[in-house]
Amino acid sequence: MGDTKYVFVTGGVASSLGKGIISSSVGKLLQARGYNITIQKFDPYINIDPGTLNPYEHGECYVTVDGQETDLDLGHYERFTGIQTTRANNITTGRIYQSVIEKERPGDYLGKTIQEVTHITDEIKRNIKLMGKIYKFDFVITEIGGTVGDIESQPFLEAIRQLRWELGKDAINLHLTYVPYLAAAKELKTKPTQTSVKQLQSLGIQPDILVLRTEHELNADIRKKVAHFCNVDENAVIQSLDKPSIYEVPLSMQAQGLDTIILQKMNMPIGDTPQLGPWRSFLDRRNKATDIVDIALVGKYDLQDAYKSILESLAHAGTYNDYKVKNHFVNSEKLTRENVAEQLKGMAGVVICPGFGQRGIEGKIVAAEYTRTHDIPTFGICLGMQMMVIEFARDVLGYAEANSREMDEKTPHNVIDIMEEQKNITQMGGTMRLGAYECDIRKGSKTYEAYQQQQISERHRHRYEFNNQYIEEFEKAGMQCVGINPDSNLVEILEIPTLKWYIGTQFHPEYSSTVLKPHPLFLSFVKASIDNLRQTQQNSKKDK
Ligand code: GLN
Repeated sequence: MGDTKYVFVTGGVASSLGKGIISSSVGKLLQARGYNITIQKFDPYINIDPGTLNPYEHGECYVTVDGQETDLDLGHYERFTGIQTTRANNITTGRIYQSVIEKERPGDYLGKTIQEVTHITDEIKRNIKLMGKIYKFDFVITEIGGTVGDIESQPFLEAIRQLRWELGKDAINLHLTYVPYLAAAKELKTKPTQTSVKQLQSLGIQPDILVLRTEHELNADIRKKVAHFCNVDENAVIQSLDKPSIYEVPLSMQAQGLDTIILQKMNMPIGDTPQLGPWRSFLDRRNKATDIVDIALVGKYDLQDAYKSILESLAHAGTYNDYKVKNHFVNSEKLTRENVAEQLKGMAGVVICPGFGQRGIEGKIVAAEYTRTHDIPTFGICLGMQMMVIEFARDVLGYAEANSREMDEKTPHNVIDIMEEQKNITQMGGTMRLGAYECDIRKGSKTYEAYQQQQISERHRHRYEFNNQYIEEFEKAGMQCVGINPDSNLVEILEIPTLKWYIGTQFHPEYSSTVLKPHPLFLSFVKASIDNLRQTQQNSKKDK
C-alpha cells in the first residue's frame, strides 16, 4: 500500500473520556477495510512499565504475548481488533529516557548536550516510525496518554508536531474532547473543547478530526460552531455519545463516517463501507441476552479497572452463552468462614482473582473451600489458583500450615513455592515469569473438553508456582494437574474433575479473550455457572 499512515490520537479537557476506545474503534474500522493496522500507546510517566504500579493507581496491568507489562488500553486494542500487541505497542516516558541514557553512557552522542527537544523527541519519533518501518503496517494509530496541557505530555506532542510536518498527508491528528451538559442552564457547552483545541494549536498541532464525548446528542448547530471555532471541517466533528456498551462505539463511529474522513484526509481510496457482520451479530446476541447469571469476583481491589480483562472475558462468554453476566464484587479481606455463605448466596459461579501479597488471601482460601465443598463452579486465576491449592492442602491433605512461600517463607508445606529461576532475582520490575508459554493439556480432562485442543499457549505474570513434589499427593486425593508446561514441567492447570467446574490456572486466560474469539475456559466456566443456576432453579421448584 505504500508508506505507512499515522493517526495520532490526543485528548483534551479531562482524562477518562475513552481515548483507548476511540483508538480501538478507529483500528477496528480501518482493519475491516482490509488494512494491516496496529495501535500503540505512549504513557507519560517515569515508570519503565506499569508492572510496578498499584492497580489503585493504574488499573489492571495487561500482559502481551512477548511478556511486556502494559497499560490496560492494550487490552481494548486486542479485544477490538483481535490483533496481538507487543512490547513496541506501549512505551512510557521512563522507557524513552532509559534508552536515551543507555546511548549516552557509551558515548553515542559524544560531545553533545542531551536535550528534551531533539534527543527525547527523536527517540519518541523513532518508536513511532519503528512500527511502520519494521512491521510494515498500513496504519499505525498512536494514542498519547494524558491530557493536552499536562507538563508530562509535552515531549510527545512536540514529537507529533514534528512528525506531522515531516510526513505531510501521511499523518493526521484526531483530538478527543468533552462537551459538558449544564443541567441548570439545560445547555451543552463547547467552550472547554475550544480551549483545549487552542491549547493544542499553541503547541503547533492543528487537529484534523474532533471527536466530542457527550452525554447528550449534539445538534448540527453545535457541531458547526465547534468546526468554525476550531478550523476543522464540519463533517470531521464527530460525537461520541455514551453507549450501553463500549463495543457499540465502532458502529457509531462508522455511522458518522469517521473512517471515511480519515481516508479522505490521507488521500486514500474510500471503497465500500464494511458490513462488520460478525461484530454486529455479537452485539445483537449481546442485546438479546436478557437472562442473568450472577458471578462473584473474590478479590481485594474494590474497583472495576483492576480486573478489567476478567470482566470483559466474562461478558464475552456471557454473550456467547446467551446470558448476561452480572458481576458481584466480594472483598476478600472481609470474607470469613462465618459470612461466606451469606456473601456468596445466589452466586452461580465464583472467580477467585489474581493478586500479590498477603492482604485478602485468607478470604480467597475461605471462598475456595466454600465453593469446593458446595460444588459451585469456580475459576481460580493465578493467585486464585494458588489459593485453591493451599485450601486443598490444608483441608483435604491435612496440612494445616500449608501456604505459599510468598506469604509464609517458613511454611513446612510449601505447596506453592518460588520458581527456581526467581530465587536470585532482586530487582522488582519486569522480572516475573511474563508472557506466553506453552502448556500440554491432559486428554479427557474438563479443561481439555473446554479447549478441544492438546497444546495451548497462554500468558503469565507470576513468581511462584505449584510445587511439583506434591503432584502425586494432590492427584491421589482428587485434584489433578491437567496442564503442564512441556519445557519446564511447571504445573499450569489444576482441576477437580468430580466437581461441576473447579479449575485453576497459573496463567491469565483473560488477556486473550476477544469480542470475536471468546476464551474457551471463560466460555465453559460461564456455561457451567448457567447450568448450575438452572439446576438450582429446578431444585427450588421441586421443593415448592
Ligand atoms: N503473587 C502470585 C505470584 O507471584 C500470583 C501472581 C498473580 O496473581 N498474577 O506467583
